[in-house]
Amino acid sequence: MTVSDTVIAVDRDTTAEVAGCHAGESVMRDAAANAGKTAQLEQFDQDYPKGPHDQPQSMCPAFGSLRVGLRMRRTATVLSGSACCVYGLTFTSHFYGAKRTVGYVPFDSESLVTGKLFEDIREAVHELANPDEYDAVVVINLCVPTASGVPLDLLPDEINGVRIIGIDVPGFGVPTHAEAKDVLAGAMLRYARSEVQAGPVARPAGLETDTTLPSIAMVGEIFPVDAITIGRMLQPMGLKAGPVIPTREWRELYAALDCAAVAMLHPFYAATAREFKAAGRPLLGSAPVGVEGTRDWLAHLGDVMNLPKKRIDAAINAQLSAIRGVLQENPIDACITLSGYEGSELIVARLLIESGANVRYVGTACAKSDWSIHDCEWLESHGVSVKFRASLEDDLYAMNTFEPDIAIGTTPVVQRAKELSIPSLYFTNLISARPLMGVAGAGSLAQVINTAIAGRERFEAMESFFAGVGSGAKTGIWTPQIISRSGAGGPG
Ligand code: SF4
Repeated sequence: MTVSDTVIAVDRDTTAEVAGCHAGESVMRDAAANAGKTAQLEQFDQDYPKGPHDQPQSMCPAFGSLRVGLRMRRTATVLSGSACCVYGLTFTSHFYGAKRTVGYVPFDSESLVTGKLFEDIREAVHELANPDEYDAVVVINLCVPTASGVPLDLLPDEINGVRIIGIDVPGFGVPTHAEAKDVLAGAMLRYARSEVQAGPVARPAGLETDTTLPSIAMVGEIFPVDAITIGRMLQPMGLKAGPVIPTREWRELYAALDCAAVAMLHPFYAATAREFKAAGRPLLGSAPVGVEGTRDWLAHLGDVMNLPKKRIDAAINAQLSAIRGVLQENPIDACITLSGYEGSELIVARLLIESGANVRYVGTACAKSDWSIHDCEWLESHGVSVKFRASLEDDLYAMNTFEPDIAIGTTPVVQRAKELSIPSLYFTNLISARPLMGVAGAGSLAQVINTAIAGRERFEAMESFFAGVGSGAKTGIWTPQIISRSGAGGPG
C-alpha cells in the first residue's frame, strides 16, 4: 500500500493548536467534539467516570499508553503531539527504564490545520511497518491532535502484515496514566479478538506445556513474581496462570482471550474488561493479598469456575498458614495514610492492615469499579476512609487530620509530609513496585515501611536545623537594595 495523495483536511476553526494542558478541559473537549471525536469522548466518559478530580494531577496520562507500547516486544510506538508534551513523555519513559526509541511525528500550525500532519503520520507508519522487525505499530494522539480531530482511525489496519493501532489519549478524556494503560491494552485486545474471529491465529510461544489446564488471565501491571505466586496458588485447583495484560508480546493476547476466567487484579481496566466480556469470559475482582484477601479470592475464583469445594479448600489450605506466618514475622505497628494513582492502592492497604497497620485513609486517583467494590467494602469495614478519584487536596487533608506515623503517597504528598517531619514513602516507586500476592507479598512491605518510620528522629533533627528557612524574611535573595528599600529581611 502506498501513501495516498489525499489530504485529510482539519477544520481550521476547531483546532487547538497551542492549547494542551493549559487550555482548560472544556475548550479542548469542545474542540475535539467539533472535530468529530464525540463518540470517543463519550466512550472515555463511560469507561473512566469522573468525580471531583477531573483533570490529571499526576504525570501526563498518555505516559500509561506509551509505557504499555514500549514494554511490548516487536512493537513500535509513535507519539503525535506538541513537542513539549513529547519531550516530557520521552524523558519520563527513559527515566523508568524504557530501552526502546519513542517515535515522534512533529507538527506545526500549518501541518495541523491543513491535514498534512495526518499524511506525515501515515507516511511514518508505512516506513516503520517492516514485518521483520515489528508485529505492531502504535500511534498515540496526544491532546492537541485529538482536539484537532487528527483521524487515526483512517490509518490502514495493517501494512505488510504489521498491525497498525491508532489511539487518542488526551488528558481531557483520560484522567490518569493508569487508565491510559487500559486505552492501549483494550485497543490491542480488540484487534486480537477480531483476528481470532477471522480465523486461526499463531500459537503463543510457551503454550506447549499444560495446554489442557484452564488458564486464568491476569489484568494489571503486577510485579513479575506475583504472576508466578498466583500460578502456584492455582495448581491445587487444577488451573494455571495465563498471560498478564498488558502483555509483553502480541501472541499472548490470543492466549489471554483463550482463558477460562479473568482476574482483574487492577480494577480500572474498563476497555480491557469489555473485550474479555465480549469474548464471553467471566471476570472477578480483588486480588490474593494477605490471609483474608487470598481466601476470599480463591473461594470466589472457585465459584466462578464451578469447582468442587474440596479442590477450592485444598488451594486455600495450601496458602493461608504460610501467609499468616510471614505476616506475623513482619509486623507493621503504625498509623498510615495512603494515596496514589496506580490503581492498586486498595489491595496494598488490605495487606498493610493484615500486617497490623492502622490504615486510616486510602485515596486513589482511579474511579470506583465493579472490581474494586469488594476491597472498598473490606477496607471500610476495618474503619478506613476510602476516597475514589481523590484529589491532592483530599490526600493532604487526610494526612493533616490523621497525623500518621507514615504517609505513603504521590510526590506532592511526600514533599508536604517531609515539611511536617512525617516519614513518607512514594507509592509508585517504593510500594506498588513490589510483590504483593500470597506468601511472597506478605512480608514485602514491612521492611521498607518500618525503616522509614525509624527515620523520624532524623526528620525532626533536620526540621529544627532548617527551622524558618524558606519562609518569611528567609525566603529568596535579599539584596542590600531590597533590605534598604523594604526595611525588612537581611541576614539572620
Ligand atoms: S498530552 Fe499530556 S502533557 Fe501534553 S497537553 Fe495533554 S495532558 Fe498535557
